[in-house]
Amino acid sequence: MTVPASRASQDRRIPAVLGSDLEVPIKGGRLIPYANLDYAASAPCLEPVSAAVAAALPAYSSVHRGAGYASQLTTARYEQARHTVRAFTGSRPDDAVIFTRNTTDATNLLARSLPEGTTVVVFDTEHHASLLPWANAVRLAIPAFPGEAVRAADEALAEIDGPKLLVVTAASNVTGELWPIAALAHIAHRHGARVLVDAAQLVPHRRLNLTALGLDYVVFSGHKLYAPFGAGALIGRADWLSRAEPYLRGGGAVRAVNDDGVHWHEDPEARHEAGTPNVLGAIALAAACDALTSTGWSVLVDEEERLLGRLRAGLAGIEGVHELSLWGPDHARIGIVSFVVDGFTAREVAEALSGEYGIGVRDGKFCAHPFVRHLLGTGNGGCEDATASAVRASIGIGTTSEHVDRLITALRDLVSRV
Ligand code: PLP
Repeated sequence: MTVPASRASQDRRIPAVLGSDLEVPIKGGRLIPYANLDYAASAPCLEPVSAAVAAALPAYSSVHRGAGYASQLTTARYEQARHTVRAFTGSRPDDAVIFTRNTTDATNLLARSLPEGTTVVVFDTEHHASLLPWANAVRLAIPAFPGEAVRAADEALAEIDGPKLLVVTAASNVTGELWPIAALAHIAHRHGARVLVDAAQLVPHRRLNLTALGLDYVVFSGHKLYAPFGAGALIGRADWLSRAEPYLRGGGAVRAVNDDGVHWHEDPEARHEAGTPNVLGAIALAAACDALTSTGWSVLVDEEERLLGRLRAGLAGIEGVHELSLWGPDHARIGIVSFVVDGFTAREVAEALSGEYGIGVRDGKFCAHPFVRHLLGTGNGGCEDATASAVRASIGIGTTSEHVDRLITALRDLVSRV
């Protein structure tokens, strides 16, 4: 097939991503421009992010450890990154901003920091990163509509004594649908519970304001936020984190080690960031935050809505292609769409899209096994059950109309073969 060259982005106010001119081989060995529709897994690097990392490298040096100028500069850049991430998420001045490896690392850190006896309430829709880390969890059935999610959380939290934490994802990594996080936070607080929002999929697509939403904790990953340098963040109330066992035991987390024992830092950032931190990851994350903020959310959201509308209308127009949705086609969502194709397994579709059309999508259960099984109406099939999988197309900065149209044309071709 013939495809026009990809354009870096449709709107000049939107920064470009690296790899927009990447060419990939298709069957027969011909190279064609890559149509990356797999942003929800890992987004490409923004050019300003790569530039910020390149600019920091010549002075790269130790953090919090050296008196040398390069060390002071690198330390200042690292701490500036913390401020930027705090501002980007609208966090409170006294919230901890801890750099982690990714979202999974951040939820696990919080899981280890919960006061003894904490009960976690979590929906079965969650990504495994937010579903699995908890020692003592009450799992809530998948709600048929947003109000039912709030009611179910209300009832479950009312039953629990002692410390409690409600965990919810802001935007589903399977359907892209937005969850009523403000209402859930409100309910959680009425029961004296705290709320953790998994914002891994939300922050690349929408502005998040932790303070305005009344959230206690937020987690996300740099590699989904156009900053693939191995950093993520856990942000939120400092008290539980200051009292918890240090996440990693080692240098940086201690004030002193002497004959009477080890004296750990109480400052949550120092306490939980032992060892040499991922400075470049933090700088990259902050550069992505700056780039999105300076582009402006309305510009980003308008472009995404345009492409998402085109994608969903195209899918809806193909007989035999079925979009997955929890709360119906009109519920608000970000640029993530999962679907199944009659007559093909998800793996067959994904392989054909890659091998014949140069399109990258994800297939599988997207680390949200209970939720995908629910959407597909399949039973407790084994991990390798090919019928219990879907295809996911996800978009972001750098996605073009041509990418979307190519996917729709390819799927039309595919279904015509059945
Ligand atoms: N939460 C959600 C909603 C996700 O989509 C993902 C990744 O797909 C994660 C958590 C885990 O992110 P990471 O793999 O960066 O830890």
